[in-house]
Amino acid sequence: MALTLGSGSGFEAQPLISLATGRWCKLICGASLQDLPLIRNLALVYTLAGVDCIDVAADPAVVAAAAAGREVALGLGAPQKPWLMVSLNDGEDPHFRKAAFDPQHCPVDCLRPCERICPTQAIGRPGVDVPRCYGCGRCLGVCPWGLIGAQTYVHTPAAIVDLLANSPVDALELHTQVGHADAFSQVWQQLQPWAAGRQALAISCPGGEGLQAYLTSIYAQVRASGLPLIWQTDGRPMSGDVGRGTTTAAIRLGATVLGYNLPGYVQLAGGTNAETVPRLRSLGFLADSPQPRPRRIAGVAYGSYARKLVQPYLESAGRHLETNPTQLKEAVEVARELISPLKGTGINNRT
Ligand code: SF4
Ligand code: SF4
Repeated sequence: MALTLGSGSGFEAQPLISLATGRWCKLICGASLQDLPLIRNLALVYTLAGVDCIDVAADPAVVAAAAAGREVALGLGAPQKPWLMVSLNDGEDPHFRKAAFDPQHCPVDCLRPCERICPTQAIGRPGVDVPRCYGCGRCLGVCPWGLIGAQTYVHTPAAIVDLLANSPVDALELHTQVGHADAFSQVWQQLQPWAAGRQALAISCPGGEGLQAYLTSIYAQVRASGLPLIWQTDGRPMSGDVGRGTTTAAIRLGATVLGYNLPGYVQLAGGTNAETVPRLRSLGFLADSPQPRPRRIAGVAYGSYARKLVQPYLESAGRHLETNPTQLKEAVEVARELISPLKGTGINNRT
């Protein structure tokens, strides 16, 4: 299937086609990331690269920043208009937390391992730069004095309803986990009216004992929405940039959930990186695998790995990457290298 649709008929439907053909690719900006210039430029680069969806925090300013980046990309000839998806949670979840510590308690001779390990440079002398922290947790265990803690949060339904009423949100993602049945039901009851008219509903869940029964119960609740369902299998959360091997957990959980035969699409996340698609292909999980299996993975979401790839171009670019066309072009090429093994060679190259 060609992926070079222009702005005419079918342009808006391209993400659905990608899901149906096993070529769905999502950028995860981070359910807690609120660094607006970074999010805008990430959306710009990955829209030009050809992703189907951009997943962002449920924050009006974040959604606006992603929408702005997407608009600039469309004006520059992006191959399609990716959906904007917002992520919500039904309880305590590592994706919905921020690191915190009081820098006044730090010994002056500390070698500051917390700064070195943070993938977003969110830690400095004043402490944690909250918008930049996406809750990966890597700093939590490295402080020799145990000063760093995590503050978790849950979005209130009222705030979400306001966001859904007033922002260009194309799709919703609910993060849940085994054991959250009651909390999920409460959140879903409040959000269900606002889910109507969206393009898709994603359910993000890590592994756990009783997962099949749990996801089956989730399906029983959400199927009445009639929305295309995406099962996001969160193999090893927020770890794709740690090493190539993290994709093993992502593929293992995706294969497990695929075996449940739930209606909808199964999409990998949590540990995905450049290793993921070649491994999926060799294991028969993609439509173009040499020996494809009867049930196949619909797509892959890239988070920390996708961000790390383009970070060097974005850090020095200022707020509007498009004002530096050479840097933008290089960033898009790097992003396309990640995406094209899944999307095929049909991605438009007009930047
Ligand atoms: S290491 Fe992770 S959790 Fe800690 S401040 Fe950086 S982004 Fe936040
Ligand atoms: S490692 Fe701990 S003591 Fe050292 S700078 Fe970081 S938070 Fe402060």
